[in-house]
Amino acid sequence: MQNRFRLGGVYVSWKRWSFFIPCVVAIWGAAPLGAQVRQNPPAMGIPESPSLVGDTTGLAREAQDWLVELVKINTTNPPGNEQQAAKYIASILTKEGITAEILDLTPGRSAVVARLRSAVVPDPSRALLLVAHMDVVGVDRTKWSVDPFGGVVKDGYLYGRGSIDDKSMLAGNLAAFIALKRGSVHLNRDVIFLATADEEQFGDASLKILIAKYWDKLAAGFAINEGGDVVLKNGKVQYVGVQVAEKVSVNISVTAKGKGGHASMPSKENPVVHLSAAVEKIGNYTAPVHLTSIVRRYFEGLSAIEDVETSKWMRVIDTPDRGEHAQRVLSDMSPMWNSMMRDTIAPTILQAGVRANVIPSDARAVLNVRLLPGDTIDVLVNELNKLVNDPSVKLEVMPDAGLAAPNSSIETEFYGLITKLCAKEFGGAPVLPFLSTGATDSAQLRLHSVQAYGLRPFALTEEDVARVHGDEERLPLASFAKGVDLLTRIVTEFSVTR
Ligand SMILES: [Zn+2]
Repeated sequence: MQNRFRLGGVYVSWKRWSFFIPCVVAIWGAAPLGAQVRQNPPAMGIPESPSLVGDTTGLAREAQDWLVELVKINTTNPPGNEQQAAKYIASILTKEGITAEILDLTPGRSAVVARLRSAVVPDPSRALLLVAHMDVVGVDRTKWSVDPFGGVVKDGYLYGRGSIDDKSMLAGNLAAFIALKRGSVHLNRDVIFLATADEEQFGDASLKILIAKYWDKLAAGFAINEGGDVVLKNGKVQYVGVQVAEKVSVNISVTAKGKGGHASMPSKENPVVHLSAAVEKIGNYTAPVHLTSIVRRYFEGLSAIEDVETSKWMRVIDTPDRGEHAQRVLSDMSPMWNSMMRDTIAPTILQAGVRANVIPSDARAVLNVRLLPGDTIDVLVNELNKLVNDPSVKLEVMPDAGLAAPNSSIETEFYGLITKLCAKEFGGAPVLPFLSTGATDSAQLRLHSVQAYGLRPFALTEEDVARVHGDEERLPLASFAKGVDLLTRIVTEFSVTR
């Protein structure tokens, strides 16, 4: 297959690893990436016409320094310790003459918020929220060639945990926000900067809690967050995915109860056997395809740049005669495409037994389900119960489910502006609405009627995206500079009166 790259000793097709790595669910850690061929990131030109706040080259350099410092602050979640990062961000804002407020959540864990006002009386429905999270996932230090919290710059990359997810966005948002202040511009809407905590675990210090406690400080009609990406291949941006919806994570506990006892006299009621049979059936189950309007639009847009064979299938994905076949072919090509078209179920935990010679009286598995927006877990559980068809096996929805949020609209002025500016900045590359298979903070915002758009504006190869949540995470600094420029353009064009 064309466009293959080497990953962990095997060749993998580009399609299988197409771009978006949701921050909460990434499982890339397994691939050993240490022994990569040394390569420099491609140079990314900045358009000649400056943004409304002028040339951003110097600003991007400053933002890079902030980013390096943020990477050095270890915010591995758990425990998070985001307060230290919050204080650092607040100190940068204070130097710019901007009032920053640290919002405490739990001991050692805080968010930070700041606002540039457009009028004495704010209109939250018009306000623009720039959001990024400060916490990062853990590292396996033995797999890193540099200190993951050292802020090491080499060969044109910043190495470090969080250098992409999500401190790049944090520093980029900070730059765009500060550009407005320095430019003494006339704002036509309030712009709010927000750095959140606990995005990776959605626990006691997450945006959900922050909203419950401090909504009046954050309320906005529009937001820009992580969740979509700029897909770079062979030095060229292939396309830009703007996340407007996301799947919902729900865990199901599967318990088999049976007869425990001495392993020398097994019976047919061994719960390990019953559980295994149930997990095998569930693991092989494929939920029906449900094409959402966003996913239709996505494939339609992508068909313009794919190879002849792939685009042929993409174009007939929704037709009565060839649709089903096309859905099957595309599902086989890419796990992400498969997951964008249907609910998925991944068994992730198995627990049973304490001794080799004792049959346990129960056995348990956990399934991680990713529901399409609009699908309900009860329907799926019914299906699975029918499939398992074993009275000794019980399925229960666990209480930590994500919440289904409405899509952000692709008809808003803001979405149109993002599309226009991305296409301009990246040489006319298609800009597509995107349903992410993983969860972000945007679901919480969408539940509060915020039109939230996911776009991490830094052009990344799939090889670099694969390091997110994995080993040797690194950000190409040329992409960072260009992304700061893009983000600044998006924010200023939307909020500044010329
Ligand atoms: Zn993230």
